[in-house]
Amino acid sequence: MEEVIVIGGGLAGSEAAYQIAKRGKKVKLYEMKPEKFSPAHSSSNLAEIVCSNSFKSNLHTNACGLLKEELRMMDSLLIKIADKTCVPAGQALAVDREEFSKNVTKELESIENINIIRQEVGESISIEELAKEHKVIIATGPLTSDKLSKEILKLTGESNLHFYDAAAPLIDKDSINFDIAFYGNRYEQERPKDESAEEWLEKQKNHYNNENSECKEEQSYINLPMNKEEYEKFVNELVNAEVVELHEFEKREIFEGCMPIEIMAKRGTDTLRFGPLKPVGFTDPRTGYRPYAVVQLRQDNKEAKIYNIVGFQTNLKYGEQKRVFSLIPGLENAEFMKYGVMHRNTFINSSKLLDNTYNLKLNKNIYFAGQITGVEGYVESISSGLVAGINVASERKIEFPENTMIGALAKYISTPNDKFQPMNANYGILPELEGKKISDKKLKYSKISDRALESLKDAMKNF
Ligand SMILES: Cc1cc2nc3c(=O)[nH]c(=O)nc-3n(C[C@H](O)[C@H](O)[C@H](O)COP(=O)(O)OP(=O)(O)OC[C@H]3O[C@@H](n4cnc5c(N)ncnc54)[C@H](O)[C@@H]3O)c2cc1C
Repeated sequence: MEEVIVIGGGLAGSEAAYQIAKRGKKVKLYEMKPEKFSPAHSSSNLAEIVCSNSFKSNLHTNACGLLKEELRMMDSLLIKIADKTCVPAGQALAVDREEFSKNVTKELESIENINIIRQEVGESISIEELAKEHKVIIATGPLTSDKLSKEILKLTGESNLHFYDAAAPLIDKDSINFDIAFYGNRYEQERPKDESAEEWLEKQKNHYNNENSECKEEQSYINLPMNKEEYEKFVNELVNAEVVELHEFEKREIFEGCMPIEIMAKRGTDTLRFGPLKPVGFTDPRTGYRPYAVVQLRQDNKEAKIYNIVGFQTNLKYGEQKRVFSLIPGLENAEFMKYGVMHRNTFINSSKLLDNTYNLKLNKNIYFAGQITGVEGYVESISSGLVAGINVASERKIEFPENTMIGALAKYISTPNDKFQPMNANYGILPELEGKKISDKKLKYSKISDRALESLKDAMKNF
């Protein structure tokens, strides 16, 4: 019987191994622990939870809640064990981390089709060689060992493997206040010097801020003007906000060439106004004058539903990002699709390399799964492990519908994107509902979740 090789016994690799074995195939699961530990791992168990013990919300109206519900429908071993080892956490699914990993390890060890080998895969074992005889899933996570990273570089090409994730927060466009925000590119939107503010305002009336304006579609930036008082209040809160403690290995490596916005702000009150928040080339459509500072949002997905805050890579804690960035006029009710991060994170350029089953386009016997593919988060990693595992075990391609969260994540990471950055589950990556726009957010999310579960139920008949 053909044996599948899974490299990495973390969240994705463990789920993948289970799904393959369940479908009657033999699996060789390589895990380097306890022979070798990454800087963030310390237990010899499989599926180790390296940080928070939360698998996020269980609610039907939450993107990660929906993802978990879909995974339950798909008989995910790891979500089943998370449910079994949960600790009280309100609407969230939090686990007893020791019990969780112990249970996953025990379960996988008890499955006859799975052979767990405690050994690092690296230079001495060539993946390309392995892939001549076997299907291989690489699920070695955000802290993939150096030796294997070199192998992956060979497989994917130098420019397709990243070691850091420095991303700015992503905002749902529908949650931006367009009484304040305006579309326009720097200099193109500015009032000409020979025109008075009044004349310019008159001309602008049905222009950039007009919902039906055609030119709006052409603008890649949304701009948020600030006056002096708003700017100074924002900077003051920013420099005093709580940040995430970095690991020692990250402190040494992370800031090269990419400075967090809060560190930049600490250099002086005006630093941001002469950097990413410079107002030059803009006119505030409410006043006809140049604002004191401007925060720019750049389109982040093809559908123009998601925008990133330009230059706002940050280490602020998530709650602090919401509190401080919501002080920016126009973002007072902003919906954060993803918070900014700056951490060590090995990931491949899946948008170029993988298809929506996590299969490497360059070698059909090789799959990737987990955080290394650019999905971000525990549950997202489990989701990709499940998809890769099912596909490896199947004679044909098993694609998940794009309107399910499992399918939307797979689609997101495999869609061509010049500025590919890791992504977690969120409603922004799912297609809009058909018909009239629903303004009540909870109702909208509930309907999107209903649609996803219905769609998965249908698709499962053919899996
Ligand atoms: C420091 C840190 C904190 C994080 N905190 C959170 C959080 O709080 N919440 C959240 O949702 N997500 C968090 N993440 C992101 C992500 O969800 C987790 O990293 C998650 O564990 C990813 O799952 P994975 O299966 O892709 O990788 P992992 O769970 O890391 O599994 C990879 C496995 O591969 C093994 N391995 C590596 N190289 C080799 C090799 N060459 N040969 C054999 N085995 C190898 C490793 O030992 C490990 O067991 C964090 C990531 C990091 C780095």
